[in-house]
Amino acid sequence: MASARSRSRLLDRLGQLGIRDERVLEAMGHVPRHLFVDEAMSSRAYDDTALPIGYGQTISQPFVVAQMTSQVLAHGAPRNVLEIGTGSGYQAAVLAELVASVYTVERIKPLYDRARHRLAELGYRNIRIREARDDVLGLPAYGPFEAILVTAGAEVLPESLFGQLADGGRMIVPVGGGGQQRLVIVRRQGDSFVREYRDAVSFVPLIEGES
Ligand code: SAH
Repeated sequence: MASARSRSRLLDRLGQLGIRDERVLEAMGHVPRHLFVDEAMSSRAYDDTALPIGYGQTISQPFVVAQMTSQVLAHGAPRNVLEIGTGSGYQAAVLAELVASVYTVERIKPLYDRARHRLAELGYRNIRIREARDDVLGLPAYGPFEAILVTAGAEVLPESLFGQLADGGRMIVPVGGGGQQRLVIVRRQGDSFVREYRDAVSFVPLIEGES
């Protein structure tokens, strides 16, 4: 099958780029990325590139998915994780291969509907997907979360999410203006939030409400 070949080529490429976590590579080997993009785009589904998914949004570049997922697992697998920005649902599916309970929120209704159907069809039972409210970031009612993954670029560090992070938990979030961000890792230790600045990345913007 052509897709099996291009899938294993992608895994080789991720390895060359420095992704070492076998759990992540295996999870990404399982998830059929070609089912998360429009059919017209499916021949490029295993290229290491972001692709449009409509409504001005993109499915993230596989290398970035691998980096962020590796960060989620860096200190042992969390029991639950919150993703902000479901988009196609691909990152949520990769997380669901590795984490017992995945929550994901999306603010664009048609993307939310599509991702919900897709993930249900693929049989993911450990993903809870919700439509985002524009007055509050995340899912405060379901927290705290041992990991929070923001898959859209925030202009400034979204401190409003700190309260949804469990003690000892980690938040991974792209932060920066002008379409360019750095990946920031925030570790919660009691009431302190330790920040670490990592690689440069480029995400579509996180939309924050008026709250
Ligand atoms: N993780 C996705 C790609 C995310 S693209 C994937 O694997 O395909 C970023 C997504 O974040 C977009 O779909 C956008 O609508 C969504 N988004 C932006 N701001 C948001 C917010 N405040 N709450 C929820 N989703 C948000």
